[in-house]
Amino acid sequence: MERTFLAVKPDGVQRQLVGEIIRRFETKGFTLVGLKLMQVSRELAEQHYDVHRERPFFSGLVDFITSGPVVAMVWEGEGVVASARKIIGATNPLTAEPGTIRGDFGVSIGRNLIHGSDAIETARREVSLWFKDEELVSWQPSITSWLY
Ligand code: ADP
Ligand code: MG
Repeated sequence: MERTFLAVKPDGVQRQLVGEIIRRFETKGFTLVGLKLMQVSRELAEQHYDVHRERPFFSGLVDFITSGPVVAMVWEGEGVVASARKIIGATNPLTAEPGTIRGDFGVSIGRNLIHGSDAIETARREVSLWFKDEELVSWQPSITSWLY
């Protein structure tokens, strides 16, 4: 089954939106298979955002991601990578559609609350960067037969 990596960024944790954010993926019908609150090291943040290393906002982004606790998660379900990106909304919260997480709760591109993997390959890389195999739980909620 397809998996994606999601992380509530420090602004989402500080604004006490963790429950609200998790609720949206739960009620959609996706399955939580990994979850941890963590203080992110500079090394992990730099690896995670490696594709943006040359961008002008890179060091500010790494400063921000390491500035406070982050909630790292792995979610599972059919089409979860693309669907989670839709639930999250566009990168800039000001242009993100209402009804999306960023559209409903954010105003600034540098404070857009949540990260989500942008493709299946990226999701594989990010899940293994953030989680050890033994931190992920394979399980099937009993509602599965009503979802699929
Ligand atoms: P997304 O998180 O939607 O996949 P990107 O991969 O393009 O977006 O960028 C990664 C993160 O870098 C964004 O979520 C945002 O926090 C930050 N970022 C992107 N562009 C800018 C910018 N112009 N100024 C400040 N931060 C930015
Ligand atoms: Mg991205």
